[in-house]
Amino acid sequence: MRRYRGLIVDLDGVVWRGGKPISENIEALRILRNAGAKIVFLTNNSTRSRRLYSQLLTSILGFKVKPEDVVTSAYAAAKWLKENMGSSKVYVVGEEGLVEELVGEGHTIVTISEAKSCKADVVVVGLDRNLTYEKLLAAHTLIKWCNKPYIATNIDATVPMEKTDMPGAGAILAALEKSTGKKPVYVVGKPNPWIVEMILSQLKLDRREVLLVGDRLDTDIKVAVEVGIDSLLVYTGVARPQDTVKSHIKPTYQAKNLLEAVKLLSLA
Ligand SMILES: [Mg+2]
Repeated sequence: MRRYRGLIVDLDGVVWRGGKPISENIEALRILRNAGAKIVFLTNNSTRSRRLYSQLLTSILGFKVKPEDVVTSAYAAAKWLKENMGSSKVYVVGEEGLVEELVGEGHTIVTISEAKSCKADVVVVGLDRNLTYEKLLAAHTLIKWCNKPYIATNIDATVPMEKTDMPGAGAILAALEKSTGKKPVYVVGKPNPWIVEMILSQLKLDRREVLLVGDRLDTDIKVAVEVGIDSLLVYTGVARPQDTVKSHIKPTYQAKNLLEAVKLLSLA
C-alpha cells in the first residue's frame, strides 16, 4: 500500500447493502489486504456481536477477520459504559449482539420486570427489530420515573436495505425522547469522534497513514474530518455525487466504488 497502512471500513453500503455483498468493494479489500493494509471494520449497527461479524466477514471476504478487527456501536457502548459508569445493571432495548457485548464487558442485563421497578443503573438503546410496546414502556419508566440515564448506540434514522431502507436506532430513540422529554446522555456511534479515536489507538499508526472508507457524509465522512484523518466516500450506499456537491462536509476522495479508488489513487 502506497500511503495508507490502515483502513477503517464501514459495513452497510460498503461491504454489503441489505445483506447483499458489493463485489467491487470486496475485491478491492482483498487487494488492499494482500498489499499489507491493516483493516478495521466499523459499523453503527448494534444488532450483531463482533464475534458474529468476524465470522460473516471472513466467509464473504475470503481472508481471516478477527473479532478484534471489528468495532460495532454495541461494543463501543459496552466499553464507554465500563469506563464512565463501571460495571452496570443495564436494561437493553436492542438485540443479541448488544447484549453479548455488554455481558462481555462485565455488565449485567436486567429483565423487563426489574426495569419497571427501577432495578437498573442505565438504559442502553440500539436497533431492536423485536421492539414491543412493553420494552418501550420499561425503558420509558426507567428514564422518566426512575430518573435513570440512557445512552444510545447510534442515532441513524434508517438502515439501508438493498433497494429501500428500514427504521434505525434513531427512530426508536425518537419515541423515547418524545415520551420522556429527555435526551440520551451519550451517543456512542459515528459521528462521535470517540469511537474512531478508540480504533486509532488500537491501530497504533500515525493518523496520516489511516484512511476511512464509508458511504455516508453525515456519519462516516463527518467523523473522519473531526478526528483529522483522510476519507474516501464511495457511491455504493447512501450518498450520491450530488449530495457531496451540496454538503459542507467534504471527503478527501470520492469514487464510484472502492475498486475504482484503488486503481485511480494507486492505493495498493
Ligand atoms: Mg454505511
